[in-house]
Amino acid sequence: MNILIMGGPGAGKGTMSARIVAQFHVNHISTGDIFRAEIGSGSELGQKAKSYMDQGLLVPDEITNAMVAEYLAHLSDRKCGFLLDGYPRTLDQAQAFDTISAQQPDLAIDVVLAMEIPFATLAERITGRRLCKQCGEIYHIKANPSKQEGICDVCGSELYQRQDDTLESLEVRLAEYHRQTEPVMAFYEAKGLVRHINANQPIEAVWDDVKKALTNL
Ligand code: ADP
Ligand code: ADP
Ligand code: ZN
Repeated sequence: MNILIMGGPGAGKGTMSARIVAQFHVNHISTGDIFRAEIGSGSELGQKAKSYMDQGLLVPDEITNAMVAEYLAHLSDRKCGFLLDGYPRTLDQAQAFDTISAQQPDLAIDVVLAMEIPFATLAERITGRRLCKQCGEIYHIKANPSKQEGICDVCGSELYQRQDDTLESLEVRLAEYHRQTEPVMAFYEAKGLVRHINANQPIEAVWDDVKKALTNL
């Protein structure tokens, strides 16, 4: 099964992705995570992406599309399909991905999870987000705190705050979402692939709805 998860910054894509990957044994392809790893390693791609990400702007399509195509071509284990998290985020990216999957039908998207939440609630999610440096576990200082402040429950490493998780960056990211990503939702809606998820509920309730959407295809 090939899944696409969409939603604004802080909607809960990463949190649900971790659970989907564990339950459905799919490859997790998060373009945000890949870019952050490239920045961390100091690669040329990372250097190109960094200035856009720091400002909350989308990385240009040609860079992002090439990176995803490369990533898909070198998947060592195809598992039970994949979960695209944070890609496609523009119409150009959706069309580029459509072209690839027309040539390789096993890459076609089966379902799109639309994580729906009022934008006014996202500031609290973004500013309260904490992540594990080592294993990537996602926490929230109020909604999903670690047992010991600043320390990951899973692996004991230090937690950090993303550089772009500020109110200034959120404003730009929301504007990018309106302008560039909402048309992508319409693109998949027209194909009949979208399942709407109320992402403005406690984490367990969102997870129940996501599981239902993925098992009643
Ligand atoms: P969030 O989880 O807050 O939605 P992500 O981790 O998915 O954020 O993305 C962080 C940043 O990485 C984006 O603001 C953008 O700069 C870049 N990025 C991630 N995915 C894409 C994409 N598909 N196209 C362009 N830029 C992207
Ligand atoms: P995204 O990948 O869409 O940017 P995340 O999964 O990283 O979103 O979640 C953003 C923040 O909100 C994190 O701190 C996470 O712990 C928290 N969060 C995720 N889902 C929920 C939820 N249903 N209710 C409350 N907080 C949530
Ligand atoms: Zn950890």
